[in-house]
Amino acid sequence: MRNKIVAGNWKMNLDHQQGVSLFSEIVNMVKDEVIGHQQVVICSPFIHLHSIAQLAKGTPGVAVGAQNIYFEEAGAYTGEISAAQVKSTGATHVILGHSERRAYFGEDDYVLSKKVDAALKHGLIPIFCIGETREERESGRYFEVINEQLKKGIFHLSNEAFENVVLAYEPVWAIGTGLTASPEQAQEVHAFIRNTLAEQYNQDLADGTTILYGGSCNPKNAPDLFSQPDIDGGLIGGASLKSRDFVDIVKVFN
Ligand code: PEP
Repeated sequence: MRNKIVAGNWKMNLDHQQGVSLFSEIVNMVKDEVIGHQQVVICSPFIHLHSIAQLAKGTPGVAVGAQNIYFEEAGAYTGEISAAQVKSTGATHVILGHSERRAYFGEDDYVLSKKVDAALKHGLIPIFCIGETREERESGRYFEVINEQLKKGIFHLSNEAFENVVLAYEPVWAIGTGLTASPEQAQEVHAFIRNTLAEQYNQDLADGTTILYGGSCNPKNAPDLFSQPDIDGGLIGGASLKSRDFVDIVKVFN
C-alpha cells in the first residue's frame, strides 16, 4: 500500500512565533487523525525548521520539511543552505522543483537534478514537483512537458534511490489561482506519470510511488481529488496556513 501524504507549503509566510503557533495548533488537531500509512509534512521557511521539528517529536506521522536546499556541501555560498544543514534541524523532507523556484529563481532541470542528489545523499526525502503552464496545457503539450521534467530532473536516479522520492503534480495554472484541475484532469496526468515510472523503472516501483496533487486544493475539492486511484494526497499552499482547512484536508483520508 502506498503512503498517503498531505504536505503543507507555507511558502514565505509567518514570522517565527506565528509559525510555531500554527504548527502546534496543527499537531494538536491531527495527532489522533493520522492513521496507518498516512503522513502529514509541514514544509516551512528555514527559520522554523528546528523549533517545529522539536514539536513534531513524539507525534507519529507528523514530519517537517524545507522548501529548498543548495546542492553544494558547504563553503562560500552566501545566503544558501545545504542539505546537511537542513537535516541537522530534524527536518526529513524538502520540496524541490516547485514552479515558483523554477520561474522566479531560474532553477532548471540540471540544477534540480543536483539538488535531488544532495537531498538523498543526506537522507532528506525530495518532494519533487512537476507541472505544465497554462500555455502548455492549452497547446496540448502537457504530457511532453511532464515527461521532460521527469527525465531531466529525476530519472538519473537508480531504482533504490527513487524509492525515497515523493512526486507532486502541480499544474502551474492552478497554483495560487483558485483554479483547480478537475479530478479527471488530475487523474489523467497522475496515471500518465505512474505509467512513465513503470516504463523507466518497473511496475512495482511505479505502484509504490506516492504522487501528490497540488494547486488550489481545499477542504471542498480534496475529497474528489483524493478519491482518484492515482492521487495519493496533496501539496497544499494557501490552505495550509489555516489550521482548520489544513486539518480538514488531512481528515479526507479517514
Ligand atoms: C503550492 O504552492 O504548492 C500550492 C499548491 O499552492 P496553492 O495550494 O495555494 O495553490
